[in-house]
Amino acid sequence: MPLYLRTIAMLTFLAFTGAAIALEAHPGNTCPALDASNAAQRERLMDYVCFHAADPDDPVHKAVAPSELPEDMDWQAAQGHDLVFSHTDSVYWVHLHLVNNDSRQGFWYLKLNYPLLDDVTFWQTDARQTRTLTTGDQHPFHSRGIDYRYFLLPVTLEAGETQRVTLRIRSSGALNVPLSLETPDKVVAESNHLTLTHGLFYGALLVFAVFNLLLFFSSGTVYYFYNAFYMGTMGLFLFAMGGFANQYFWPDSTGFANTSIPLLIALCALAMTAFGRSFLEISPGTLSSATLRVQAWASAALLFTTFLLPYNQSILLNTTLALTIITSLFLIGVLRWRQGYAPALWYVVAWSVMLVGALIYALAAFGYLTDFLAREFFMLTAIGAQVVLLNYAMVQRWRLLNQKLLDVEHNARTELEVKVHERTAQLRNTMRELERANRKLATLSLNDALTGLHNRRHLDNILPELCAEARRTGQPLSLALIDADHFKRINDTWGHGFGDLCLQRIADILSRHVKRPRDVAIRFGGEEFALLLPGTDRDGARRVCQHILEDMRSTEIEAADGAGVIITLSAGVATMSPGQSEQELFQQADEALYGAKASGRDRVTTAGVETVQ
Ligand code: GH3
Ligand code: MG
Ligand code: MG
Repeated sequence: MPLYLRTIAMLTFLAFTGAAIALEAHPGNTCPALDASNAAQRERLMDYVCFHAADPDDPVHKAVAPSELPEDMDWQAAQGHDLVFSHTDSVYWVHLHLVNNDSRQGFWYLKLNYPLLDDVTFWQTDARQTRTLTTGDQHPFHSRGIDYRYFLLPVTLEAGETQRVTLRIRSSGALNVPLSLETPDKVVAESNHLTLTHGLFYGALLVFAVFNLLLFFSSGTVYYFYNAFYMGTMGLFLFAMGGFANQYFWPDSTGFANTSIPLLIALCALAMTAFGRSFLEISPGTLSSATLRVQAWASAALLFTTFLLPYNQSILLNTTLALTIITSLFLIGVLRWRQGYAPALWYVVAWSVMLVGALIYALAAFGYLTDFLAREFFMLTAIGAQVVLLNYAMVQRWRLLNQKLLDVEHNARTELEVKVHERTAQLRNTMRELERANRKLATLSLNDALTGLHNRRHLDNILPELCAEARRTGQPLSLALIDADHFKRINDTWGHGFGDLCLQRIADILSRHVKRPRDVAIRFGGEEFALLLPGTDRDGARRVCQHILEDMRSTEIEAADGAGVIITLSAGVATMSPGQSEQELFQQADEALYGAKASGRDRVTTAGVETVQ
């Protein structure tokens, strides 16, 4: 960055030095006549040109025709230097003797290669007459006689004829008088080349601008609009600077040709500020944002003052503003790049080229760059490169946004996947817990809390199943109902707690005797138990019951008062017979139990068989 400032300072210094050399006076020299038919002499036209700069104090300043000039006026020889003067109030008189030393008539153009001069008057004096051509920006375009953006003065010389050409030039802008004497062929050829170059340049600019406008309309992204606006105003500015706008857009306007230049500079400044602000994504509330806002307002204000102030003031003001804006946009671009905003890099590259273009313009606008064609070529190249780079920067920005969008989408998808995984795992855990709880609940609902044996519900569930199986397979199925004898007395004597303990002892004994995997011991009422014995016939069932009863009889349960309590059981056994329903089976077993009770308790009664003690 400081390197840039140094380069700008150096170039400015060189330009000033060059201008100083150009303006150095060479008094006392007479101007020799130029042989127009001699190509070498035409090439060195400035060796034959004399001039007189009349400042406002000079009486010559007021002269409007060569006849009003004093005979002894001090003409200075240009001595090969281009006539280049920065903004000045002086009136410049230029004169040139032409002779045709050829044996035939010749035709040439005296070309004034600077289209922005306010007032130019040519006098062509030969032996017979003086012809006058008054033209310039302050006059309608058709006053030039020839439809060309430069000033062309046709010069026809008979063999041996001499002609004196005098020019009076006044301009409120930079005053450059780059003269050349050219054959019509050369003028046409050069014009053709330039037409192609300009056509390509302005055509490309127009295509870029229209394309950006279309992008704006289709995407709604505002910096495309600002870019189109910038390219439009920049193109118009160059068009005006090149003399085309005067030729094609406002040929009849006598004042607007001058006003248009500072006006377009202010518009350009506004456009580049708006584009920079939008493209560089300047956050509101920052210093950069405040700077750009001030500059945008200043550009808008200068847009209007252009109509109020004289040209030489508004051009100075607007150029200063534009240079300030270009510099600050460059610095803000560098800042944004340093902040990690990648597209700013290409913006900075584009703006570096712009700085060079702006410098060329500034040097030219104030009269420090003599070769108008070279200057125009540099400007077009710089602006063209800048436009391409800016559009490339926009592509980079688009890519960045796209990448960001893809990243966001990818992150969202990954996050979603992780969340789905988490939720699935949670759900699986919950389901496992639920299953466990359900199993526990099922166990609880099918088991008796006091004894740990199965309960009545289990009996109700399993009995129909076992009956159906027995019917299907023909295997025997026995059901034994077992009831504690006189249990009420136990409770009454030793309390309910001891009664519960006894019930647990009974359950232990039942469990001990029910050994087969499919045998089931059930507590289905207070002190009432059932045994379901699939695959066990009546005798087998009876034997099991007898063993239980024996075991019970020989078990002494110690009560709290130290008494050894013996509990007896009564059992009723029924074995399923073909065609019997589960209700009938149960009823048979119940009846057998009732029989056991009735016949004295502590015994096993088998349905359909006599009671066995
Ligand atoms: P029987 O020989 O005729 O069966 O006489 P019993 O006293 O056993 O018959 P009854 O059916 O009249 O009485 C049953 C008693 O069992 C009533 C109650 O005190 C007792 N009982 C029932 N369920 C429980 C229980 O869960 N815990 C305790 N401790 N006692 C119970
Ligand atoms: Mg009982
Ligand atoms: Mg009972």
